Amino acid sequence: MRQRFIYDPFVLPFMAGFVFIIIYLVAGIISAIRELPCEDRKKLGKSIFSRKIFVSAREIFMECLIHRRIFRRNRMLGFMHMSIAFGWFLLIVLGHIEVRLYCPERVNLPYFPIFFRYFMMETDSTLKGSLLFFLMDAALLMVLTGIGLALYKRINSRLMGMRRTTKLKLGDRIAMYTLWAVFPLRLLAESFTSGISGGSFLTRGFGLVFESFVSNEALIRPAWWAYSVALGTFFLAMPVSRYMHIPAEMLLIVLRNAGIKSKKTNAGYGNIELYSCSRCGICIDACQMSAAARLDRKTTVYFMRMLRRQEGDIEAAARQCLMCGRCVQACPVGIDSCRLKQNVRRSESFFSPVQYRYFPPTETIRTDVLYFAGCMTHLTPGIGKAMQTIFGRAGVNYRMMDEGGGICCGRPLMLSGQEKSAAIMIEKNTDIILQSNAELLVASCPVCYKIFNEEYSLPIPVMHHTQYIEQLIDRGAVTVGHTGLSAVYHDPCDLGRNSGVYNPPRQVLRQVANLMDTSHERGEGLCCGGSVGNAVLTGDQRRKIARDALYKLTGEKPDILVTACPLCKKTFAGAGLQQVEDIAQVVVKAME
Ligand code: SF4
Ligand code: SF4
Repeated sequence: MRQRFIYDPFVLPFMAGFVFIIIYLVAGIISAIRELPCEDRKKLGKSIFSRKIFVSAREIFMECLIHRRIFRRNRMLGFMHMSIAFGWFLLIVLGHIEVRLYCPERVNLPYFPIFFRYFMMETDSTLKGSLLFFLMDAALLMVLTGIGLALYKRINSRLMGMRRTTKLKLGDRIAMYTLWAVFPLRLLAESFTSGISGGSFLTRGFGLVFESFVSNEALIRPAWWAYSVALGTFFLAMPVSRYMHIPAEMLLIVLRNAGIKSKKTNAGYGNIELYSCSRCGICIDACQMSAAARLDRKTTVYFMRMLRRQEGDIEAAARQCLMCGRCVQACPVGIDSCRLKQNVRRSESFFSPVQYRYFPPTETIRTDVLYFAGCMTHLTPGIGKAMQTIFGRAGVNYRMMDEGGGICCGRPLMLSGQEKSAAIMIEKNTDIILQSNAELLVASCPVCYKIFNEEYSLPIPVMHHTQYIEQLIDRGAVTVGHTGLSAVYHDPCDLGRNSGVYNPPRQVLRQVANLMDTSHERGEGLCCGGSVGNAVLTGDQRRKIARDALYKLTGEKPDILVTACPLCKKTFAGAGLQQVEDIAQVVVKAME
């Protein structure tokens, strides 16, 4: 290789954008870390000097470059993201390898690896040089394939397996179009240059084609100028575009692996989550408010954008969510958008205070097992009665904690942002539980189960009734026969996706019915639409969501739909399904 030049003015647009984005990123990282609470900064410091940093490095490679999670969800989309990210990464790495091999004295010039082909002229065709040129062309082809697919997705997202994609703002458009231009311009610049220097199957091939009808020599510098301007403009537009997700996601992974969670919306970790959203739109299709009730603009991706730009009615967007967690499960970046929405609800006083009445038991309860039915179970009394039959048949010494109703676990208050009232309620409930001397708390409602586990600090285990029934059957305290019914199990959001209880209800059901598979189960379970997490959905919208879920769950015509949540049962019954039962009711039938 022979060096032709050290510098050319066309590098200036690239350098301006490059210096700007480096300063912006360093300032952003420092400010995000300063915004973290002291305990989180300590966690981060410890994790950097532990093996967690290697776990983070691996995750950064797998998620930011290979896009493994997107691949799992949608292969075509995963291939598109991987081609652009990994291909670009390879171009950068190979560029640096070339500089180190052929002109190590230029290693401190940031523009040298980017415009290497212009500055260095190929004078030999050793195996090493040819291999590098081949790899460079292969990486460039990879990125160009990804750009082509991105263009294809913009024109028709359904062809890429996505029902909908996001609408773009000006900053996004500038960054996207310049990014799409960068690599075709690089192809042109290297192709025009390949006649006098370098090139392999792609750039040399194109160079020969162009040479046949235009003078490549005359176009070399204009093409390098255009490439440099596109790169510089992309870097300048990055902070006002979704492409900030590229660096932000790396930081998010490091912080998440350090055990840090968002506490505020627009500061520290929460802010990094906002910037990490690539607006891929995967959460639009995952959301049943979009799929069934056509509320596309109410989905997480739009909430994230509003929050990041601090525009529009953010509070209303935070309210318009079932908190089902389907978008969190689907998000390839791992953004906990439900927590961000809860943070907004907590920090704003937009909810009128919930008028709650609290009637604790008048005398101290003493028992071995404390049963908390929950307010929704009181509204669907068949489930509470079934549980009492099971307790009685198993000979368990139990007492109901909320026999006359009047006690709430505190979740509705939390969802409405009234954390202080919720904390008072939690304290009072904790006293009742402690005074009972119970060894176990059993809850019938998944919402209560989740809250008892996550927000209470109880010295005794908490079980959902599906887990408890499984235990009773296993130890022979309850004997069941087979009902002969075919059944589909519906995973309630707060029991399945949001608490990870998937197997116990299935183990029980397999013993009492013929359990049928469905493609909407476990993490992909459907929300019934009745969630108290969303207080603004109309009855009609809820019905649409419930009917759509029923349509998907009962397509194989089971005899019965079984769920494990009083609210889901009530919502499905309200949407017109006659054959819907709670698992406790099916077990009672099987005992008979
Ligand atoms: S929240 Fe996640 S799934 Fe939704 S657009 Fe952002 S990155 Fe994609
Ligand atoms: S939590 Fe559920 S309802 Fe809320 S935006 Fe996500 S998918 Fe939609």
